[in-house]
Amino acid sequence: MMVMSGYPLIFDGHNDALSRVKRGEQLLERRSTGHLDLPRALEGGMGGGIFAMFLEGSAGVFDPPVGQALALQRMVAMMARLEGCEAAAQGRVKIARDFNALQQCFQQDVFAAVMHIEGAEAIDEDLAALDVLYRAGLRSLGPVWSRPNAFGHGTPFRFDHSPDTGPGLTDAGKRLVRRCNELGMIIDLSHLNQRGFDEVAELSDAPLVASHSNAWALCKHARNLTDAQLDAIAASGGIVGCNFAVGFIREDGRFDTDTPMEALVRQIEYLVQRMGIAHVGFGSDFDGADIPDAIADAAGYARLMQALHGAGYKEDDLAALAHRNWLRVIENTWRVGAV
Ligand code: ZN
Repeated sequence: MMVMSGYPLIFDGHNDALSRVKRGEQLLERRSTGHLDLPRALEGGMGGGIFAMFLEGSAGVFDPPVGQALALQRMVAMMARLEGCEAAAQGRVKIARDFNALQQCFQQDVFAAVMHIEGAEAIDEDLAALDVLYRAGLRSLGPVWSRPNAFGHGTPFRFDHSPDTGPGLTDAGKRLVRRCNELGMIIDLSHLNQRGFDEVAELSDAPLVASHSNAWALCKHARNLTDAQLDAIAASGGIVGCNFAVGFIREDGRFDTDTPMEALVRQIEYLVQRMGIAHVGFGSDFDGADIPDAIADAAGYARLMQALHGAGYKEDDLAALAHRNWLRVIENTWRVGAV
């Protein structure tokens, strides 16, 4: 892989780039808007990441989305977008459906894309669509976004508020968690509230994953994770992907992109101190959130790595944060021949 940054390759736990393009091929060209495309990803030192498929509601993101059938139709269209990107990339991008493929991408100059759905509205309560989507390559799933659905109650966007915002998973949500376990699919805790988090932690036998969340101790947003939640994730052998969204980084909770790199480094340092370096990675939320001007886009990953290097992280620690922890958690979660 042509790494221009000179730092260990990055596997990023969460981006929304598929929401920003109409055709997957557009992800291969450098765009003047948004955060993530292949040229800027390579410039920043990315080797791959988890590509979220997120559905807006009928009248805005916080609205309940369209019914399951239409949600599934739109989900399939987004998967096809990523397929289109892979097909047009002439070997430069590969959708990783098993750990060997993911590892090979990292060894062979190929950008790895993992399919994730953020909010399971496209899945029916009998979970038939889940099995079909799994066979199509879905390997990661967040039961809810920050709104209720058939599977549970997401945590609303509230600052100066704990993640304890109400009821957690529904019975269908509990079945969903068990089936994801059987399939060996990542269950993403980001956007779940306290109750939902606790129920997944209780039910799931996989390492706990919060793909794009930060430390509540430094930024008291309901989307962030309390120390007790961070401890549970570390104890399970899991990972927190540090989110670049300014409103989840800043102590004042403001969505102000004039946020220094040091504030993001402080979040990473806190997570490392609390959980140990083996349980921290990145989950940028590129193309899904306002991020610090100091990062600006995927190419800015090189500046973050430089800042972490400056803060005293050595090569081995940088490799753990950049990709090694994510790859370990994926290896321990995905199961070969699960269906
Ligand atoms: Zn999100």
